[in-house]
Amino acid sequence: MRYTGPACKLCRREGKKLFLKGERCMKAKCAIDRERPVPGASQRRRAKISDYGVQLRAKQQIRRYYGLSEKQFLKTFKIASKKTGITSFEFLVLLEMRLDNTVYRLGFASSRSAARQIINHGHIRVNGRKVDIPSYKLKKGDTIELKKSDKSLAFVQKNIEETSGTVTLPEWLTFEKEALKAEVLRFPEESEIQAPADAQLIVELYSK
Ligand code: SF4
Repeated sequence: MRYTGPACKLCRREGKKLFLKGERCMKAKCAIDRERPVPGASQRRRAKISDYGVQLRAKQQIRRYYGLSEKQFLKTFKIASKKTGITSFEFLVLLEMRLDNTVYRLGFASSRSAARQIINHGHIRVNGRKVDIPSYKLKKGDTIELKKSDKSLAFVQKNIEETSGTVTLPEWLTFEKEALKAEVLRFPEESEIQAPADAQLIVELYSK
């Protein structure tokens, strides 16, 4: 089940920024930047953390960063583990190539959860056809564009303006700002994926 509680609490629990609240994450209001730990976290930090604990935290950080439920996360990992490449990298590529992540990377939404809403409401087209599935896996050559209804257009243009200083377009995507149309040029490279933890720890966790 997807977590629906306060987003900042998840970052405070992990002790790092997971960028779950859009523009607020870049401001001084961010709970991590203000260093306000969750009550009891200081005691927890003092305790020696086991290898399993480190792996578990890495899993939670990456899962929360991309906003997946436990079930979706494990399902994606299983797909990655069947690929011929390095599982940790293949896993991150699958997460990056989700439609919700890509819509966020394009700056259409200020957070991945906001991107999921735009997709769920049917505002996104892939290769000219409506796709309302946030987990939709994009591939090389796919085009992503906005359904140009008045409501979605104004909303997304506002987001693009607001995120232009904070969201950097990855090199695996091209974006025509005027047409609000993007294309997947290729799969992301390892150096282009900024996950909050080492995905190899998840491989170790799930191989137990
Ligand atoms: Fe809250 Fe964003 Fe800061 Fe996380 S990074 S604590 S979601 S403001």
